[in-house]
Amino acid sequence: MAMIKKHIRELVSYVPGEQPEAGSVVKLNQNENAYPPSPRVIEAMREFDGRLLRQYPDSASRELRSALASVYGVKESQVFCGNGSDEIISLLFKACLDENSKIAMPYPTYSLYKTAADMHRVACEFVPANGDFTVDTDRLLRAGEQAQAIFLVNPNNPTGLVLPVETIEALLKNYRGLVVIDEAYMDFAEPDQSAVRLIDAYANLMVLRTFSKSYALGGARVGYAFADDRFIAALDKCKDSYNLNGMSQRIALAALHDQAYLRTIVNRIRQTRDRFAGQLERCGFEVIPSQANFVLCRPRFAHAEALYRRLLQQRIYVRYFPVPRLDDWLRISIGTEEEMEIMINSLTSARAAFM
Ligand SMILES: *Cc1c(COP(=O)(O)O)cnc(C)c1O
Repeated sequence: MAMIKKHIRELVSYVPGEQPEAGSVVKLNQNENAYPPSPRVIEAMREFDGRLLRQYPDSASRELRSALASVYGVKESQVFCGNGSDEIISLLFKACLDENSKIAMPYPTYSLYKTAADMHRVACEFVPANGDFTVDTDRLLRAGEQAQAIFLVNPNNPTGLVLPVETIEALLKNYRGLVVIDEAYMDFAEPDQSAVRLIDAYANLMVLRTFSKSYALGGARVGYAFADDRFIAALDKCKDSYNLNGMSQRIALAALHDQAYLRTIVNRIRQTRDRFAGQLERCGFEVIPSQANFVLCRPRFAHAEALYRRLLQQRIYVRYFPVPRLDDWLRISIGTEEEMEIMINSLTSARAAFM
């Protein structure tokens, strides 16, 4: 019998949202961007010289790091690029968190952290959110005292709630361990709430970002991180030599250089989101106020799971989490105006059918 490490045998895999075959489906279950990437990305792909695939890519993604440094106003030595933020999360465990140590994070949040922790034999202390899903930061800080790191997703997934940057700074002032802020959805939030500006002041802060959501590049797998030079150097030591493929480096650069397009699609999604949230409330849902490209909502007229199954039959995919605190709720990604209209029509008729 092949030998497999005990903790890997027992590991519960991360479960991503379903990926249906293409066709007439409304797919609002993975927080993918409703719109295609910038035309400059398509252009960069067309211009990419396939003969260059013979060569290895730049192992340090230098051009991309330097462009990110100038867009975000940080030093190049404070930037890391990875094969999606998922890779960076895994590297962070490799580089920073000892086996048998502990991390603290709110519950509910992005479940990949638990999987990554299990894989690296790190324990997780979950701090339950308040009744309205806001983060109990005092309790989180207390849990953090017994832990090597605190992880926060901001805006949080799956709630869409934002912790003000002042609260994050207060946390940093009172905590000596590592603080990881995952800002995968920050571009969809109100401006000036990012923790990136705190990087210089707090050497124990790491901010994660991604091209997967706001830049509409989930398929290209490019994530990035900002932190003190020392942390970036540690991630560099642990990464595979060529962690980010050459094509994705070009694609991400092209997307980054089209900030006007980013603003356009992000604004459109925010408008759709706010309109859709209002429609949901009128349709009999409790809605958590979201600053991301999804909303967490609870149907008052049916069980969330029954509604989820009904939508599936209509080839409409949303996210249902059969776990404590979330099993009354659905997370619905914000699609195009047309998709959200199909969505709300379908919910309206579901409501009539259930009542
Ligand atoms: C979608 C998401 C990411 C993105 O991961 P990538 O590997 O960059 O695609 C990261 N963090 C959270 C909380 C997410 O929801």
